[in-house]
Amino acid sequence: MYGVVLSRRDFREADQIITILTAEEGKHEYIARGVKKIVSKNTSHIEPSSLVSFGIAEGKKEWSYLTNVQPVESFFYILQSLSTIHMLGYSLDAMLTMLRDGEADSEMYHFFISFLRFLDTHASSVRLILLDAFLIKLFSHLGYHPSLDACVVCEKTYTDIGKEFLSFSDKKPSFYFAGGGILCASCTIEKQRIGESMYPCGIKEINTLRLLVASSWQDVFSFSIDEEEYRLVHKLVYEFMLYHSERTWADWKQIQTV
Ligand SMILES: [Zn+2]
Repeated sequence: MYGVVLSRRDFREADQIITILTAEEGKHEYIARGVKKIVSKNTSHIEPSSLVSFGIAEGKKEWSYLTNVQPVESFFYILQSLSTIHMLGYSLDAMLTMLRDGEADSEMYHFFISFLRFLDTHASSVRLILLDAFLIKLFSHLGYHPSLDACVVCEKTYTDIGKEFLSFSDKKPSFYFAGGGILCASCTIEKQRIGESMYPCGIKEINTLRLLVASSWQDVFSFSIDEEEYRLVHKLVYEFMLYHSERTWADWKQIQTV
């Protein structure tokens, strides 16, 4: 099988538990024997983010043991700069936290590899917005696809919401987390009146969010966005992620700028 290593941790005296994402078995833990013994020929390439090929031997107590691990692709350039290391670490953590064990999903597997390849080939000029795109795409894929085509309450279209906002700047739409998508200005007022929480946003942020969800890595990378607009859409992505997670997450933009 081919798989991307998501993490490794010590287990027993000389072994490690390696979490690998494959198209066939999803995210899965395997035991690598003897990896802590100085240099083990089989396993020196088992580093998080490496793409490897491997065999499995079934062991006792439901554990699967890795055999014959071979490096296939390692994303060398990602590890050469702090900003890409940061993005890699965050994406690995998100995959480890959000994916359920043993759920085969070949689209998810290819999605993650495409992200790693893009980061690797653009490592010297990468922008943080790619991580925002990665996270919103990941959550969309996991079933939290934000509804951005129409108001989730009255179904007013995105185009009409946009027109309204351009004609009357106080007619501000919002993002309604509990409803999973956008609200037009009138529904925003209505939901606020009954005390529900939403995230007020301009049509530009909604537009950028649409792009992050639907565009290729290359299009996100080339997308021109000013710092203030990025700050707003980033906040929306971050709040969206917190809303749909059981744990808290550090703000990746804050970590980046410290
Ligand atoms: Zn509405």
